[in-house]
Amino acid sequence: MALDAVSIEQKDRADPFARLRQLFSIPDGIIYLDGNSLGALPKNVSAVLADAVEEQWGKSLIKGWNCHGWIDLPGKVGNRIAKLVGADEGTLICADSTSLNVFKILATAIKMRPDRNVILSDTGNFPTDLYMAQGLKELTGGNIELRLVAPEEVEAALDETVAVLMLTEVDYRTGRKHNMKALTEKAHSVGALAMWDLCHSAGAFPVHLKEAKVDFAVGCSYKYLNGGPGAPAFVYVAPQHKSYSGNPLTGWMGHDAPFAFDLGYTPSANTDQMRVGTPQVLAMTALDASLDVFDETSLEALQTKSIELSELFISEVRRRCPNLELASPTDPLKRGSQVSFRHDQGYAVIQALIERGVIGDFRAPDIIRFGFAPLYLSFTEIFKAAEILEEIIAGNLWDKPEYHQKSKVT
Ligand SMILES: *Cc1c(COP(=O)(O)O)cnc(C)c1O
Repeated sequence: MALDAVSIEQKDRADPFARLRQLFSIPDGIIYLDGNSLGALPKNVSAVLADAVEEQWGKSLIKGWNCHGWIDLPGKVGNRIAKLVGADEGTLICADSTSLNVFKILATAIKMRPDRNVILSDTGNFPTDLYMAQGLKELTGGNIELRLVAPEEVEAALDETVAVLMLTEVDYRTGRKHNMKALTEKAHSVGALAMWDLCHSAGAFPVHLKEAKVDFAVGCSYKYLNGGPGAPAFVYVAPQHKSYSGNPLTGWMGHDAPFAFDLGYTPSANTDQMRVGTPQVLAMTALDASLDVFDETSLEALQTKSIELSELFISEVRRRCPNLELASPTDPLKRGSQVSFRHDQGYAVIQALIERGVIGDFRAPDIIRFGFAPLYLSFTEIFKAAEILEEIIAGNLWDKPEYHQKSKVT
């Protein structure tokens, strides 16, 4: 698919997503290929957030919990996210962070399989998910085993000792995508439960939680859902498990009647039992507004464009930088909405790109990563990014001392 600059421009003119790009605030001259880490700012968020601060909080004060429906935001925003991940209304809430939600779900799943003690995961999983499992293990006096296998060995490792399979659908480094439906089916066939982390899935392509018969899911909303830095996460509980109370973080908001102020804890009989404390109203209000843009398109259309963008990028980079090793699967249906390459000076390469207006990121030890948020990226930008990458690689422009200075966040 070697395309020239003119045909790329024509492609952009015919792109139905060009209209949606206008809904985002992206600085001029920046090619933003990091929407998989922190989504760009949807323009409508600022006014909604200002209203929530000045009108709602400022004028309604504590009445806002009722009159502005603050108390119902976890369910309201959760239902909007549910639509994007193939879940029924009332099965998903917005709450806390992904890390915390992993902990709640793992503890619940372990409790549901009292005769088993293995959490099975893979070495491609995001570290925080593994750390939370390790913390749970400590808390239970080491009675839990966290078993890690290579991503391609997960299926074979599913046996009758496994209580819960904990996987992230899209590998944060390589973009490799697991077959969620097949692995969930296999987990069930050995009596295990399946929890999926959708951090790199939600808002990037269609997800079918209900159809795949997934038991539990978690995910964050600041990546492809554009909810803003630190936006609250989500947690899904399949309808058949909703009255099963296993959340060990038994805060009052997960209580059946928080405002009865009982001395004892009685879990809510629905998904609200995954709530813990007071919802992050301002952050959830911003997220709620950021989801509006998804009403304008379908995830199928987003995926189609994501594939076109990533295929263009791969073919351009291969042509221009033949020595750069592709770390992502070549089959676009086997990867998420990102493309990664390996370079032993990857960190410096990314700094050189950022200085030239192309924002991607680096993941240790040698991954240079580019996310394709189809809502706001054009084909011209992808073409340009490949051109700039070529300049940097061909001219060793990354080889400057300042590009080796590591910041706290990479
Ligand atoms: C981004 C990401 C997280 C982040 O968790 P937080 O609790 O929001 O910091 C967790 N898991 C995966 C797979 C991620 O990609």
